[in-house]
Amino acid sequence: MAFDALKLAVPGVRGLQPYVPGKPIEELEREYGVKNVIKLASNENPLGPSPKALAAAQAALAEIARYPDGGGYALKRALAAKLGVLPEQITLGNGSNDILEFAARAFVTGQDEVIFSQHAFAVYPIVTRAVDARAVEVPARDWGHDLTAMQTAITPRTRLIFIANPNNPTGTWLRRAALEEFLDKVPANVIVVVDEAYFEYVEESDYPDTVAWLARYPNLICARTFSKIYGLAGLRVGYGISSPAIADILNRVRQPFNVNSVAQAAALAALDDDAHLDKARHANADGMRQLVQGFEQLGLDYIPSAGNFVCVEVGEAGRVYEQLLRAGVIVRPVANYGMPRHLRVTVGLANENQRFLDALKAALGC
Ligand code: PMP
Repeated sequence: MAFDALKLAVPGVRGLQPYVPGKPIEELEREYGVKNVIKLASNENPLGPSPKALAAAQAALAEIARYPDGGGYALKRALAAKLGVLPEQITLGNGSNDILEFAARAFVTGQDEVIFSQHAFAVYPIVTRAVDARAVEVPARDWGHDLTAMQTAITPRTRLIFIANPNNPTGTWLRRAALEEFLDKVPANVIVVVDEAYFEYVEESDYPDTVAWLARYPNLICARTFSKIYGLAGLRVGYGISSPAIADILNRVRQPFNVNSVAQAAALAALDDDAHLDKARHANADGMRQLVQGFEQLGLDYIPSAGNFVCVEVGEAGRVYEQLLRAGVIVRPVANYGMPRHLRVTVGLANENQRFLDALKAALGC
């Protein structure tokens, strides 16, 4: 009988589509023969990391024959001090994706249900199906999470809820009062992961301080990352903040050396450079204004975003994406998120944003 790997896979995995990342610059250069490619497709920090982080990473290379500190002692202590929590409340991840996966692996079985929103981050269905659980996707409202509907979707089988705040790819965000009201209603035997990958970019005054809520909600996990504003996406460091009891559980499913030593050193140094963060936050606000003004001039609708990216409605997104590629501009199609008329663009440097807007105008024939 012919070998059929798919038949051997866990049922939930059989129906999974692999995560589609942004197109790498080298691939576009190779395939289309274009030069001077710019990539505004993966919500990376166009300023790069703090020079302090870079220096620390370089210094750490001298010791890479040794295993990293599996307990992440120095990084956890520094994070705890910055956040006003105990080191025992931190779980380190190989990117914050690791934290999302730990939550599913530690708390969810094949008989359970996991709730998340339509148009929410693509890793939630992946980690849900990987443990063979039922993925309950709740229709969005105005592109954002409909918390009332998400609450209604809770059943006795619900074990885990993912909330992206702000959400990727839509950029929508939830206010303090709305999220608090929701958490008050979630039964204590359901774990809630509030995914705050873009936390440091948010400037709105009623954006919630979820870490301050941890004492009130023992079932809450906040997930954050060094991949976005800290500019360390390639090194893969993220972290969860939770009650010590939840952190203990998450750490049981964590691979012992999941965060490498270069990444730990760079993240530790990055935490020490608030000036770099301020610079990145300001550059993002300026770039976002530039993009949004450009869209308005082109008469295009966009979804107001609290992150470092924005979704713009371009109509035939597949065609526009292709034309942008030919002009050497990589953005992100979001049809796989149920948004076939939109493209997601990451805020870049001023000249990159301009190149994108010019290419978009040409692609649309405006
Ligand atoms: N959550 C959200 C909402 C994201 O957009 C991303 C990155 N695309 C992540 C989590 C994961 O990022 P990382 O694993 O690099 O920390």
